[in-house]
Amino acid sequence: MSISDQEKPTLIGLSPAQLSETFAALGVPEKARRMRSAQLWNWLYARGATEFDQITVISKELRATLAESYSLTRPEIVTEQVSADGTRKWLLRLEPDKPGGQGPLVETVYIPEPTRGTLCISSQVGCTLTCTFCHTGTQKLVRNLRPGEIVGQIMLARDRIGDWVGAEADNPTGLPEAERKITNIVLMGMGEPLYNFDNVRDAMAIASASDGLSFSKRRITLSTSGVVPEIPRWGEEANTMLAISLHAVRDELRDELVPINRKWPIAELLEACRQYPSLSNAKRITFEYVMLKDVNDSVADAKELVRLLKGIPAKINLIPFNPWPGAPYECSDWEQIETFAEVVNRAGYASPVRSPRGRDIMAACGQLKSESVKQSASERRAEAATT
Ligand code: SAH
Ligand code: SF4
Repeated sequence: MSISDQEKPTLIGLSPAQLSETFAALGVPEKARRMRSAQLWNWLYARGATEFDQITVISKELRATLAESYSLTRPEIVTEQVSADGTRKWLLRLEPDKPGGQGPLVETVYIPEPTRGTLCISSQVGCTLTCTFCHTGTQKLVRNLRPGEIVGQIMLARDRIGDWVGAEADNPTGLPEAERKITNIVLMGMGEPLYNFDNVRDAMAIASASDGLSFSKRRITLSTSGVVPEIPRWGEEANTMLAISLHAVRDELRDELVPINRKWPIAELLEACRQYPSLSNAKRITFEYVMLKDVNDSVADAKELVRLLKGIPAKINLIPFNPWPGAPYECSDWEQIETFAEVVNRAGYASPVRSPRGRDIMAACGQLKSESVKQSASERRAEAATT
């Protein structure tokens, strides 16, 4: 009996060494393994092959052998929504943990802008943390994503928007760099990426490999709520751009909004930022600050923010609060956001106010969750009904 592709392990997410081991297990002689791995890597990550049969540099026999035991499956797309502003959101089903079970659901968002395209990817299903303004924080952690599920989000986004080398018929040798649609990756979807450190690191190593997906580390940003002990390790082992979900300038308030602050307060967090490797004017840390009406949006807060960040090469990203059903906050008034931004600007920080994208499809920051939870609840009911 043949097994379906869905049940075969995917090769997406394996390191070059693991690919080489895969060839070894299939009986490929040692001296050919390196070359075979390099060929496969190129077809998977530079060209976006979805079937072994596309990889014609590998012999027909070896392709057939690979296809017997493995697949090139990405996370399965359950729904694709396109917002009026062009933002796209995919609801994805991951591998089930038990054979025959239902895989958990996670979301990925693509945000096109005139001069760049940003892909916002998830690192965990749910989150162990419980930031009070975040919708994902109301969903308990289901599980960590595997490297292939993290990098697979980039691959399926490229599949769907036609962003692979040679994706355009009149350009068989590849999309020139300048025409690439996805130019930036942000780890700002569901989950706390530093609590899935190894898998996120391994996935970003694949995403940044120059002979594959080829995203410069300057164009990959990891956002953390402040897992202080992991920040230096991330600097050492991955060293992508860093974003910090600050959101409050006093410990008392941050303890409430971002409860991880009780463990690692603002001073310790900012010290870890100061030590982050190779910071400069060209490589600045982004501080995210969600604008909550009458909670953290006063002029005094803005002044304190400027004072706290003194000496850190920083950008400040003011995020209008994106509401979700039952949220205990309101977004600050527009004039208040502008007043706040002005204080920050006058202190010399560029402080773009992040315009909410994809709100109509619940794809904006902190809104990710509802669909997946709804879906899994109805699935649970469906499952219960059929067993
Ligand atoms: N867990 C990581 C990354 C995911 S959250 C972190 O917290 O940094 C991505 C960003 O969206 C964070 O800055 C988060 O604080 C912000 N965010 C969460 N809920 C939001 C909401 N409802 N409105 C606006 N921003 C929100
Ligand atoms: Fe988790 Fe980030 Fe949401 Fe906090 S803001 S609950 S860390 S996803």
